[in-house]
Amino acid sequence: MSRRLTRSKVRFQNQTNNLKIEQLERRLQKLRADSESERRTDSKLCLLCYYLPMEEDLQFKQTVKPCGICDAQMTSNFAITDVICSKCSSFEGICKNCGADYELKEKKDCYPFELLS
Ligand SMILES: [Zn+2]
Ligand SMILES: [Zn+2]
Repeated sequence: MSRRLTRSKVRFQNQTNNLKIEQLERRLQKLRADSESERRTDSKLCLLCYYLPMEEDLQFKQTVKPCGICDAQMTSNFAITDVICSKCSSFEGICKNCGADYELKEKKDCYPFELLS
């Protein structure tokens, strides 16, 4: 495909972006309502990572990384790995994908992992 910009390319991109915005708005509404809260915590994800996952280009690449809490080896077939393992995620109430609180609100008392050190 030629890299020359044309009116039809602009039109296409406008439509694409408007569709994306509509999708984001729908997802944001679901996020605000937390309409799938049970499925979300089963997936061990915070509000943002569950309802508005970043569309990253998934590169097949075996990666091994230690869990940010218990040091268990986490393996992934993609270049991206979680920050903590599933077990720690459930236990702490912290998103395994990004490390935010499930509800995106900082806990007043200690997280269990803080008592470890
Ligand atoms: Zn862990
Ligand atoms: Zn998250």
